[in-house]
Amino acid sequence: MISSRRTKPIDISDIPDRFPSCPGVYLLLDRGTKTVVYVGRTSVSLSGRAVVSVLEHNIPKSALEQLEIRHRRAQSDYEAYCMECEYFHRYDPMFNQRHPASPREVIHYCPNCGV
Ligand SMILES: [Zn+2]
Repeated sequence: MISSRRTKPIDISDIPDRFPSCPGVYLLLDRGTKTVVYVGRTSVSLSGRAVVSVLEHNIPKSALEQLEIRHRRAQSDYEAYCMECEYFHRYDPMFNQRHPASPREVIHYCPNCGV
């Protein structure tokens, strides 16, 4: 079987330039197994630099080098929150310590578990 397309490891110094400041979620996947190990959310007010700080806080540097990152856009912060909750419950990512937080402006409850 022909090997799949090569993917680049995460270089967190690239993220501030690559990440759009728009609502969405990002997934960190193990490059080998494609297992989702972390789910995070972006918003209009979240810069790429803030994403880097979240990653540095939650993921060991040695693990980051084995991961790739994917970003999915959402139409609103609320939709991004729902997507983040869905991925959180679907993949149970090993580096997510707690349930996604509701957007600050209006309190929402998780569509999956009601938290
Ligand atoms: Zn939930």
